[in-house]
Amino acid sequence: MSEQRTVIVGAGQAGGTVAATLRRLGYPGTITIVGDERWPPYERPPLSKGLLQGQVEIDKTFLRPVAFYAEQDIALVSGTQVREIDRARRELRLDAGDPLRYEQLVIATGARARRLNVPGSDSPAVHVLRGIDDALALRAALAPSSRLLIVGGGFIGLEIAASARALGVAVTVIEQAPGLMGRVLPPAVASCLAAVHAGHGVEIRTGVALLGLAARPGGGVIAQTSDGDMPADVVAVGIGSIPNAELAKAAGLNVDDGVLVDEFGRSSDDSIWAAGDVTRHFNPLLGRHVRLESWKNAQNQAIAVAKAIAGQPAPYAELPWLWSDQYDLNLQLAGLPQGGEQLVWRGTPEEGRFTVLGLANGRPTFAITMNQAREMRFAQQLVARGAPVDPLRLADVSTPLQRMVA
Ligand code: FAD
Ligand code: NAP
Repeated sequence: MSEQRTVIVGAGQAGGTVAATLRRLGYPGTITIVGDERWPPYERPPLSKGLLQGQVEIDKTFLRPVAFYAEQDIALVSGTQVREIDRARRELRLDAGDPLRYEQLVIATGARARRLNVPGSDSPAVHVLRGIDDALALRAALAPSSRLLIVGGGFIGLEIAASARALGVAVTVIEQAPGLMGRVLPPAVASCLAAVHAGHGVEIRTGVALLGLAARPGGGVIAQTSDGDMPADVVAVGIGSIPNAELAKAAGLNVDDGVLVDEFGRSSDDSIWAAGDVTRHFNPLLGRHVRLESWKNAQNQAIAVAKAIAGQPAPYAELPWLWSDQYDLNLQLAGLPQGGEQLVWRGTPEEGRFTVLGLANGRPTFAITMNQAREMRFAQQLVARGAPVDPLRLADVSTPLQRMVA
């Protein structure tokens, strides 16, 4: 029998979770994680929140204490990039050192921030936020007297806006679409979020495109936009992410906006698996492939991959779920809004807390809670069940949601 040897490319949340889960399941083989960052595997959610605000220490973002990897006999190779997968030889070529042999390979290379491509995008005032080093650089650039321009009104943009306001920074958000969070939230819910930001002093300008950035004497930039010039000391860009799937594509694996994998995380090569932001995976509940960029997906898809490699396969089949914290607001979303659903509101934005269910043909397909986390569990059950519901009864807050599930 060949030696059991698993190599994981990418020392992020998914990569670290595959390794830790393999050991928890008693996997006896060698495990190597190769990551191009200088940090051990860490969780990114605090980067735009507590870490940016200076309230969370760097090591509190680590998935496991640094000592864990040696204790668990997991070789962690940091600061090293995998350049090529040689499937015929089952070897990886690295940017330094000898090739690395694998028996099972896990691609957990995540995604990278999409960059601006307007004139002046290379200005030192421009920041993206994907890694710890990005968060440290952005934090260092923000002073209470500074003026921050955020390009993109998605998760990154709005979480940075909330953190920057907590630091006393003046914030303007420009978003080219007519509303915020256009890819994720129904417009009516996104409007509530916009109102919260406006209430915290954020200037939000939607339908505005960035055309270029001109250097300003003395530092900072003048942002040239479709709505006129805007001066800024710092520019933070949150215009989406791109899966790091080039390695897989060059190796001839099936890639389509992400590495295509089945519900066990297996790619088009039986000995190569993938997990996290880099995948487009088959979701049995939704009956289609989806690419998700969320903490829970990185965690639980990685666990499914580890189980499959350890010979205890269990399909990854769950409702997409994510959260965002902005100011004292907690937003949670289960399911994937497609647009056009009937919205049923439990509570109102004025009350500061509500649950919204999206119905398609009378059946719940997604749920959103704002400062109403305790309803999320039952809302998720309604969505997962997908049975028709009575919208009037659903909207009646005097009927506890758990009673709708029973
Ligand atoms: P990553 O964490 O990106 O890890 C991939 C790693 O692989 C990286 O270190 C990368 O540098 C490395 N790599 C890439 N290519 C190579 C190579 N060729 N060789 C070696 N290494 C390589 N989700 C939520 O649900 N809620 C939140 O509140 C939330 N907040 C977030 C805040 C921020 C600022 C960001 C950026 C994301 C947030 N997310 C949140 C999303 C969540 O963090 C991601 O979905 C998750 O990190 C994905 O994990 P991953 O392991 O797939 O990828
Ligand atoms: P995102 O959620 O896709 O939002 C990007 C936004 O920027 C979209 O609204 C997009 O509008 C807009 N945009 C694109 N190009 C623009 C331009 N040139 N000018 C102005 N606006 C532009 O991506 P993100 O916020 O950058 O987040 C990146 C990644 O981090 C994602 O994977 C995200 O899921 C993850 N993340 C998650 C959380 C969370 O779950 N809480 C928090 C932070 C980050 P269009 O749709 O019109 O292109």
